Amino acid sequence: MPYALCSNSECDFTIELQDKVNGRPIATPQECPSCKSQMISLCPNCGFLLIGNSHAHICGFCKADIRLSFANSQSGTRTAGDCILVPTDFVDGGSHRLVRDRLPKK
Ligand SMILES: [Zn+2]
Ligand SMILES: [Zn+2]
Repeated sequence: MPYALCSNSECDFTIELQDKVNGRPIATPQECPSCKSQMISLCPNCGFLLIGNSHAHICGFCKADIRLSFANSQSGTRTAGDCILVPTDFVDGGSHRLVRDRLPKK
């Protein structure tokens, strides 16, 4: 049974994406009806559809913790932004050195 999981680790909301009565597929909600966090219907680690027990928080395919992988993929974006700030400091230091090197030539 395919299912979607709330990305909030504080929230236990899950939804099965197939109607038990008539077997029709149910669209994944964009946000959790309980806490408004993003819903996860694909494993953030391997991209496989979440299938099986809807209360399982481990991907049935790659065995990764789905919400942990989701949190890592979100914080990974932030880490990349922090890395951009580091070379900027190096550029500033380099330009100061360039200015100082130019002074005796004037
Ligand atoms: Zn939730
Ligand atoms: Zn997976």
